[in-house]
Amino acid sequence: MSLSVIRGTRDMVEDRRRMLIRTIAAQAAQGSLQVSVRQSTGATCALCADIIAPGMRQYDIGVGRSTVIVDEKCYTSSLQRIIEAEPPIGEGGRSTSANNQA
Ligand SMILES: [Zn+2]
Repeated sequence: MSLSVIRGTRDMVEDRRRMLIRTIAAQAAQGSLQVSVRQSTGATCALCADIIAPGMRQYDIGVGRSTVIVDEKCYTSSLQRIIEAEPPIGEGGRSTSANNQA
């Protein structure tokens, strides 16, 4: 570990944001990303750390075993082009994914 200096909160948020976006992009490239949209009940955006006001849209992004929650602002500015650049797999037909069954 070379980063022992505590930096500003903004830098930490930025690092986390980049890491999450990379993780999400990697999942999207594998075709294993699951995104669902629902109304916020006051969750916090994982990318910008803002509270998502109740009633606003939030995006639940399944990454591995965890769910990353982002607000619409971050989804459209940072994630939409990554996620929607990947064509849906098996739409209207069978997917060959082996990961659907628990
Ligand atoms: Zn956000």
